[in-house]
Amino acid sequence: MLKPVVDWDTCVGCGACAEVCPEVFQLKDDKAWVVGLEKCNTCNCQEAADICPVQAITVTEG
Ligand code: SF4
Repeated sequence: MLKPVVDWDTCVGCGACAEVCPEVFQLKDDKAWVVGLEKCNTCNCQEAADICPVQAITVTEG
């Protein structure tokens, strides 16, 4: 299963990941939170990681 992790020290709260995978990422307090880990197979979490302007998302197989 793919597992996205957000580095909050790096995240700038742009919301791009939440647009690509709204069921997985949500913005709260200007940071992206992984709210639907199990939904990662319903979107392209790797695309969300690729689109992040500051490379704050790491996707691992776990
Ligand atoms: S795309 Fe990156 S910087 Fe933007 S909200 Fe998501 S994790 Fe944060």
